[in-house]
This record gives sequence, structure tokens and C-alpha cells, in this order.
Amino acid sequence: MADSDAEDLVLTGVTKKFGTFKAVDDLDLTVPQGSFFALLGPSGCGKTTTLRMVAGLEELTAGAITLGPQDISYLKPYKRPVNTVFQSYALFPHMTIFENVAFGLRRQGKKDVKKQVEDMLELVELAQYGARKPTQLSGGQQQRVALARALINRPQVLLLDEPLGALDLKLRRAMQIELKRIQTEVGITFVHVTHDQEEAMTMADTVAVMNAGLIEQMGEPKELYEHPRTTFVANFLGQSNLIKAKVNGTDGDQIRAEIEGSTLRVPRDRAADDAAVRSGSVWVGIRPEKVFLAAGGTETSDGSNVLRRGRVTDVSFIGVSTQYLVRMPWGQELMVFEQNTGAREDFRVGDEVDLHWLPDHTFLLDADQDAT
Ligand code: ATP
Repeated sequence: MADSDAEDLVLTGVTKKFGTFKAVDDLDLTVPQGSFFALLGPSGCGKTTTLRMVAGLEELTAGAITLGPQDISYLKPYKRPVNTVFQSYALFPHMTIFENVAFGLRRQGKKDVKKQVEDMLELVELAQYGARKPTQLSGGQQQRVALARALINRPQVLLLDEPLGALDLKLRRAMQIELKRIQTEVGITFVHVTHDQEEAMTMADTVAVMNAGLIEQMGEPKELYEHPRTTFVANFLGQSNLIKAKVNGTDGDQIRAEIEGSTLRVPRDRAADDAAVRSGSVWVGIRPEKVFLAAGGTETSDGSNVLRRGRVTDVSFIGVSTQYLVRMPWGQELMVFEQNTGAREDFRVGDEVDLHWLPDHTFLLDADQDAT
């Protein structure tokens, strides 16, 4: 955790209006110094606008941005100790890789340029490429040059706006691990904008999930995945089955929720908020990979939640897993992902099945929101 005099990046009540449209709505967030922070959300939710306000490329309508003790809300972009890496690498095509990286240092009249550029090229694993021109590099290599160029001035904060968006999937996955390694090595605060949940979860210490100008939830990736507090987060990070149910009292630390004559049990600490429980109407959530399929009527005695009389409507073999769609008696189709370990029974379209899962893997959300 950051200590009290760390140079944290703090956004307080940050708002951006375009005309009457609020692209960013009263945002509060703290990015601890030296952390890898991801702003995750669908297209148009306000991620880039937030980043541009931190960079000074967009004026705030309201609120403040501070870096440690300094209020940077109204500083000119070039006066902020902040650099940005964009999806389009924006390298100078006529300059060598070395000169591209050296550019910022030369402009500031810095000494010892050669050593610093060589060290930086080493860091991004391009030590052999200094003499080349950008067009002689692959997309992934160009991206690393852009990163080196943005890091060479040792900014306090590096902003990354979908920097891997132009790369193919395999290269993107490799660069995610690479970016994380580089961030750990340089210790600079990284704020990374993406709509790719896997990317955010792979790299970031903290993820803020944004939706329609607001932060829905913020936390460590595992915490967000296992304890989503809204249906949006439950569906945006991975996939969820959300089953509408009625709360029917409690048993010790477990909440009982009824759906079509079945009782589902949910540990109280897996409920997003008590109001949902009191209101009586809830979404019971379960991740598809936490559900086991069993032939219809199979008995259990391990305290699992069970939903019976499902009918398999689709089977997709994905290699590592098989993905089933199962239609329940109330008409809803639920997803079940089973790992292909060879230890489980295969089912076919039309088979009657029961769904089993552990109460500890269940979560509970307020039904006062849409399922999607
Ligand atoms: P994407 O992933 O597609 O880049 P985003 O989450 O980064 O999306 P923003 O670019 O921040 O979204 O845009 C947020 C909203 O603000 C969008 O509805 C967009 O149309 C709107 N917007 C952004 N810039 C302007 C502008 N200069 N004028 C008017 N509306 C704008």
C-alpha cells in the first residue's frame, strides 16, 4: 500500500461534459504511486476522456486532479510529469529507433543520452535495433519503442490508451506480460485503458470497471471476479449466470433463496449488500465454470446447491473445456463450462441434467437492476 506522502494520483469529483452530455460523471479514484492501474469498460464509457484529462489534453468541467501534493488540474500538458502511449505508436518515421527514444532527452538538453537510451532499449529488449527505422520493425517492436520513448524522461505517471489494440491476439498476450515486467522494473505508476477484461486482469494490481461515465466497482482482479457488486461487473468480467430468486430467510450464515421450488444457499458475505437481501428479490449469480453437470436425479449429500430438470440445448467443444447451454424449467438458459480433464461424463443435446455447485461459489445481487 502507498504511504501517506507517496505521490498518489488522485481524481476528486472529476467531471467532463460535452455540451449537455456527461462523458465522465463525478469520478473519485486514487491510483497509488508505483501501481499498475487499469480503467476497464466498454466503448464510450469515458475511459479515454478520463485519461486525456489526466494528461491535460482535455479540460475538466468540474473536480480536481492531484499528484502527491501538487494540483495538476490546470497545468499545461507538457508541464505535467505525465507521458502517454497511444494505440497509434506515433513514432518519427525518418528517425532511427535510437533517435526516436533519445528525442525527449535531447529536447531537454540532457547529458549522457547514449547511455540512457541504450539502457532503455535494453529494458524493452530492443538493444540490437537502435540503428533501424520504425518501418523496419514489427508492430509489437514499434509498440515497445513507443513505450521506451515515453519512459525515457522518467515521468511519474505513464498513461497507456489501448496501447496493444493494434496487435494480434498472440502478440497482445505476450506484450501484456512484457508490460507488466517493465512496470515492475521501472516502478512508475501505469494507468492503462482497455476494453479487454482479460488484459486488465492479467496486468493490473487494481482494476476500475467503468460504465456510462461512472465507476461501477474498483478492486483487485480476483476480488472483482469473485465478488462482483453489480450485474454489469458480473457480466463484463467473465460470464455469469444470473437467476432471479426470492429470499426466504436465513440459516445461520447462509441466506436461502427460492427459485421454482428449489432452495439455493448463499453465504451472507457473498451478498453485494444487505438491502438486496431485505428487499427479498435478488439475482443469484454463479459462474459457468463453477457448475457441475450430473445426470438428472443424481443424489447429493455435500450441501451443494442443486437445480434440477435442466435440458441440454447446446454443446460446444472448445478444446480445454466443453461449454453447455442448459434450458431450465422456467425457460432460462444457463451456461456450464466443464474442463476437459477426461474425468467427467459427457452430455448431449436433449439429455436431462441437474446443475450442482457449492454455496461458497454463489454471489447475490440486488434484483433492482437489469441482468445484462
Ligand atoms: P473507446 O473505448 O471507444 O475509446 P471510451 O470509453 O474511451 O471509448 P471516450 O472516448 O472517453 O470513451 O468517450 C466517452 C463519451 O464521450 C462517448 O460517448 C463519446 O462519444 C463522447 N465524446 C468523447 N469526446 C467527445 C467530444 N470531443 N465531443 C463530444 N463528445 C465526445
